[in-house]
Amino acid sequence: MTFDTLVIGAGAAGLMAAIEAGKRGRRVAILDHGESPGRKILVSGGGRCNFTNRGAKPENYLSQNPHFVRSPLARYTPADFIALVEKHRIRYHEKKLGQLFCDEGARRILKMLLDECAAAKVRIIHACRITDVLRPAEGGFKLATNLGEFTSQTLVIATGGLSLPSLGATDFGTRIAEQFGLRLTPRRAGLVPFTMSAEWKARWSPLSGVSFDSEVVCGPARFRENVLITHRGLSGPAILQASSYWQPGMPIRVNIMPGQSAKDWLLGESRSAQSGLNTFAQRFPRRFAEAWLDPVLGAKPMKQWNRQDLDNTAAALSGWELTPAGTEGYATAEVTLGGVDTRDLSQKTMEAREVPGLFFVGEVVDVTGWLGGYNFQWAWASGFSAGQAA
Ligand SMILES: Cc1cc2nc3c(=O)[nH]c(=O)nc-3n(C[C@H](O)[C@H](O)[C@H](O)COP(=O)(O)OP(=O)(O)OC[C@H]3O[C@@H](n4cnc5c(N)ncnc54)[C@H](O)[C@@H]3O)c2cc1C
Repeated sequence: MTFDTLVIGAGAAGLMAAIEAGKRGRRVAILDHGESPGRKILVSGGGRCNFTNRGAKPENYLSQNPHFVRSPLARYTPADFIALVEKHRIRYHEKKLGQLFCDEGARRILKMLLDECAAAKVRIIHACRITDVLRPAEGGFKLATNLGEFTSQTLVIATGGLSLPSLGATDFGTRIAEQFGLRLTPRRAGLVPFTMSAEWKARWSPLSGVSFDSEVVCGPARFRENVLITHRGLSGPAILQASSYWQPGMPIRVNIMPGQSAKDWLLGESRSAQSGLNTFAQRFPRRFAEAWLDPVLGAKPMKQWNRQDLDNTAAALSGWELTPAGTEGYATAEVTLGGVDTRDLSQKTMEAREVPGLFFVGEVVDVTGWLGGYNFQWAWASGFSAGQAA
């Protein structure tokens, strides 16, 4: 079982790296401990796979070295992946904000990648448990597995992040990085719902399922999308995006009247004889208004609100401050922040600077995209770069 290139991990990044290496005439095999390839692709985008984002730019990624993504993203762009999708005559649509989804479901994107693997003569070997990765004196790599020994000249690690262990996620990639002396940046769950305190939940969890347009601010980040109340706290796209910038103890600010002046709205209503609650219920779901508004103000006619009532409420509408208790963690997170430190990788090829022949691609690397197709674009781009050299 001797190959030119071995890729560990049959996810988005590993498949792309293998296809590209295979197209160069390399004899390539992908080893995966799962029973089938691309399991995260199949569950992605609610089963429709948000396979890229037309506008993917370095600013849409988090990393300790924000410049690292520039080169791989320029080498393989969203337009390149769209061209591949179109070559396979796959129908797709833009949902919003440049996010492209497959009309025919995620399975069709996976089939496209597997067809490309077959055309490039890539072998995919499942249920392969790797127990040891060695670097023999004569060069290359030697892998001990439950299926016997594999050897190769180059080795691509594409084992992804820690999120969704139920779909086969492991820390294999970062353990191999450590074994070969590469540095790691701290890992934590990203694109993940927030959990809230027991007191907050007692008031808000009866509203579980209610969602509303918001602008959420967390540290330097600001996202305008929906927020969803859940049994455990807060979710929805704006919250998932903010979670990637959140650190324990940090408050977030939720503007529940984005793009409008809360103060102007309240001043406009300030001569009304309607109660505060009825006024708010014209603008927000009634149950939400009941939970959000101070009951004393809710019972008062608007025309009896004094200046301070108006100012305080306007400030709270545009900057409702909440401090999450934590996140739901890797069990529900879409991604893992942190990973293999990009300082130890070549920006051009994803090869370890000090270990010739060893490459890291995809989510195992300290590069994490926003919600909206950016993470797959990183997987394709980093996989492509490695596939040109591995
Ligand atoms: C529910 C969900 C929905 C998502 N939706 C989207 C979306 O619509 N758009 C988007 O851009 N991103 C989405 N993401 C993120 C995206 O799926 C990942 O960023 C992307 O799949 C990472 O690709 P990867 O190849 O690096 O890792 P993965 O796709 O995780 O692949 C890693 C592979 O390595 C294998 N592996 C792991 N450990 C070992 C081991 N020890 N030995 C052998 N094999 C191993 C795994 O079985 C797996 O096949 C979503 C994530 C989740 C969880």
